[in-house]
Amino acid sequence: MFNVLAQYWGTIRRSFAAADSAALKQAQLRVMIYQLPMMYGLLIINTWGMVLPHEDAIPGWQGVACPVVFTGICVLRVVSWIRRARTGVTAGNAAAIMRNSGRLAWVFSISFTAWSLSLLPYGGAAFKLHVAFYMAITVIGVIFCLMHVIKAAFTVTAIVNGALVVTFLSSGNSVFQAIAIDTSLVSLAMLVVSFTHFKNFSDLVAAQGENKRLANIDSLTNLPNRRAFFASLDKHFDSAQTSGSRLAVGLVDLDGFKSVNDIHGHSVGDHVLAEVASRLATAARGATTLARLGGDEFGIIVTDDCTDTGLSQLGLSICDVFRHPVLAGDISVRLGATIGFSTYPHTSRNKADLFEAADYALYEGKRCSRGTVTIFSETHRNEIIRESRIAQALRSPDLGSELHLAFQPIFSLDQQRTVGFEALARWQSALLGTVAPGEFIPAAERSGVINELTLALFTKALACAKQWPAHIGLSFNLSAHDFASEPTVKELAQRILSSGIEPARLDFEITETAMANDFDQVQKTADVLRGLGCGLSVDDFGTGYSSLSYLCNLPLTRLKIDRTFVSGLKKGTTAFTVVRTLLNLSRQMALDCVIEGVETAAELKTVAALGATLVQGYYCSRPMDAPAVAAFLKKEEGVEEPDWLPEN
Ligand code: C2E
Ligand code: CA
Ligand code: CA
Repeated sequence: MFNVLAQYWGTIRRSFAAADSAALKQAQLRVMIYQLPMMYGLLIINTWGMVLPHEDAIPGWQGVACPVVFTGICVLRVVSWIRRARTGVTAGNAAAIMRNSGRLAWVFSISFTAWSLSLLPYGGAAFKLHVAFYMAITVIGVIFCLMHVIKAAFTVTAIVNGALVVTFLSSGNSVFQAIAIDTSLVSLAMLVVSFTHFKNFSDLVAAQGENKRLANIDSLTNLPNRRAFFASLDKHFDSAQTSGSRLAVGLVDLDGFKSVNDIHGHSVGDHVLAEVASRLATAARGATTLARLGGDEFGIIVTDDCTDTGLSQLGLSICDVFRHPVLAGDISVRLGATIGFSTYPHTSRNKADLFEAADYALYEGKRCSRGTVTIFSETHRNEIIRESRIAQALRSPDLGSELHLAFQPIFSLDQQRTVGFEALARWQSALLGTVAPGEFIPAAERSGVINELTLALFTKALACAKQWPAHIGLSFNLSAHDFASEPTVKELAQRILSSGIEPARLDFEITETAMANDFDQVQKTADVLRGLGCGLSVDDFGTGYSSLSYLCNLPLTRLKIDRTFVSGLKKGTTAFTVVRTLLNLSRQMALDCVIEGVETAAELKTVAALGATLVQGYYCSRPMDAPAVAAFLKKEEGVEEPDWLPEN
């Protein structure tokens, strides 16, 4: 029994301690706003209901003046609670209101008890019973109304009923004594019920608080999640707008993370993400908010130093955390981060624009300067405007006829002749004039028309290649979006089969970035194309986030070494070592290797000395129109009229 009571007392103490939580105070106040006016109304009505039938017996100051003053105070309290109901409760004022209410419970209880007991001498047994009934029933009503403010309910019960019980027990009248005992038992039961209710209430508030916390936290990294990020952005944007201060949004995307999941599995991926998040949290201390937006993308809100210099410094310190590899057990993973920032009001006028601009800066960073910081600028804004014009023009019904292909020879140094042509898209738009593929291909990818465009170009490329001799191959560029689209790949396969061209003459070029997408899908597409007998090249090798695992895990046939390594290639330079290493690598892996962007005789000599067998570049030939291909091949072979030319 003692143990049960001790446990119960412990529960009461813990609940009282929990009542200090700010969230609970706010929740209590929200209930009190409706219950306390009712309680004061009850007090007023009960009080007058008690004095009016006995007005002749009670002296005026006690029978009229005290109830009038008491009523006045109660009315004032009701008015103040009604006002509070209108203005609402904030975390700021909740604590003070609760403190005041606690003090008022003491003042009210003591004065109410003193006044009620002071009436006892003025009447007979029936009057005394009425006073006792008034006190007991009022306290029961008050306990109900104060159920959510359990401390105040305890205070009122202890003071009012304590005084009533002591007075009646000591009266010597057995009826009064029985009433005292009954009243205290009922009050005790009421308190127990109220306490249980309060405990459930405070547990519910705590659970709601925990649910809210969980709904706003990313369970893997313990960082705020996407929802919390946007709530924080709303808050900081509104305050920046009101105060005229600056605000910056940053988006961080990990480079090379997808391959971690693909190669080592999701549990290693999760481990790596948690470690990355903790490094980012240390590096982004200057930021107001750092959140995980999903996958390997993180969001930053900066309110302090939003200058370009400040943001660059913050961004670089974030990129710097990847200088050291991330360890997951005995697996060591090398990652990078690309960051895009945008600022308000400097380059973005509203919240949605601010986020989109950061996204654009990130996209640009991923495209052109991985592993560094890109800050959205007016130039980007102009690019967006231009891109939206391009996107519009790409929807032109005449697009098919506006597109054509240029072909650049791929030259074999061993055979001293052209072995194939790379098809390069050209667009002569009626609206915009000549648009470079470097502009319209990304625009088509973004506006979702790339698959149609690829298929239209591929049909043209097949038609041209059909005119060439059988030993001349066709290299065709695929976008990451094509590679990821099953219907597009099916359609490509169908067109190859119905073209009558030997699939072995075809070679599809994809960049490393394309391979970094959904690896299962990349593998599926690679298998389909290789299954047909087509070749598969990694384009611009060395410029992306090169992962040798792709070379091992995909059925590739060729590497194309990017021209950035070839430009001004000289012995003793890093580029020279890179080209030599990549040539060795391709030899070891039994892959063909094309050196792109050979522009000078010196470059050709150097790459030839390094053992290159296939080259492509302005030195050999610039890209040419389809009709020029025949003349080019004819000239190369020194034949007046090659037999593969179609007869007129
Ligand atoms: P890429 O696939 O790396 O194509 C080679 C680019 O380098 C071509 O630019 C070509 O004209 C240029 N080039 C060739 N030799 C030299 C050289 O010696 N020096 C220099 N400075 N440049 C050289 P182009 O035609 O402007 O194409 C740019 C990019 O647009 C292509 O790069 C490719 O990524 C993309 N692209 C072109 N056509 C298509 C297409 O049909 N589909 C897709 N998805 N992308 C395409
Ligand atoms: Ca290419
Ligand atoms: Ca290339």
